[in-house]
Amino acid sequence: MRVTPLGTNGYFPSFGRQTISLLLTGGERALLLDAGSGVGRLIEPDVSSLVREVHALDIVLSHYHLDHVIGLSYLTAVWNRGPVRIFAPAFPLVDAEPEETLERLCSPPLLSTPISRFPGPVEVIPVREEEFEAAGLRIRVWRQDHPGGSIGMRVGTDLAYLTDSSADDAVLAEIAGIRLLIHELWFTDEEAARSPAKGHSHVSAVAHLARLAKPRLVVPVHHHPRRTNEEIRRMAAELSVRAGIPAVCAEEGRPLETGD
Ligand SMILES: [Zn+2]
Ligand SMILES: [Zn+2]
Repeated sequence: MRVTPLGTNGYFPSFGRQTISLLLTGGERALLLDAGSGVGRLIEPDVSSLVREVHALDIVLSHYHLDHVIGLSYLTAVWNRGPVRIFAPAFPLVDAEPEETLERLCSPPLLSTPISRFPGPVEVIPVREEEFEAAGLRIRVWRQDHPGGSIGMRVGTDLAYLTDSSADDAVLAEIAGIRLLIHELWFTDEEAARSPAKGHSHVSAVAHLARLAKPRLVVPVHHHPRRTNEEIRRMAAELSVRAGIPAVCAEEGRPLETGD
């Protein structure tokens, strides 16, 4: 399984970074974790070559804030390689119903073609259970502390993706034995001390979780748009020291070097 971050920001694009979306390839179907503006990178030659042999796309959404779903409105322009399935969290995992929410996002007057009438087949699959299969991988999800709810996810045996959450130790059992932890890094410790984090995580909280879970590598994502790339590198370095685990900043559009 190869992981290629297509977008690593939260909220809105900045400093050359798009909003959050991670592409997983290596199976018969491609898999996107979240569908922020990074989905637009599917038309870039280096990214499109990763899905050249793939004829179906699965998407798992963490929640419905725009930075995680706006890329669904690009699908007609960036994906013409076969059917799409959108695994979309529903109550009680989040406080929203998927069909209604996605139809609202992808409908006139906001978008000329409703999602139900995209040229290729698009199926919205509400996720209410904690386990399901997407792109041939077992996905396990749980509700996180975030306004309106969001889901953390374990994808297959090796990878966990946790964003828009407060990095709570309670998830330790869910992420035991993973090799790659992709976790949001929204606040510095100073920012979190100034205004207590609401549904987002800060450096020492993510480091604490990583130290306990012991993955081989931590990749911080969902960066605050105001940060420069240099500031993000410094936060990742601090995370790595505090966790005692390597932490690398992803380069969008490039597969992660996971050391496997
Ligand atoms: Zn977000
Ligand atoms: Zn959010």
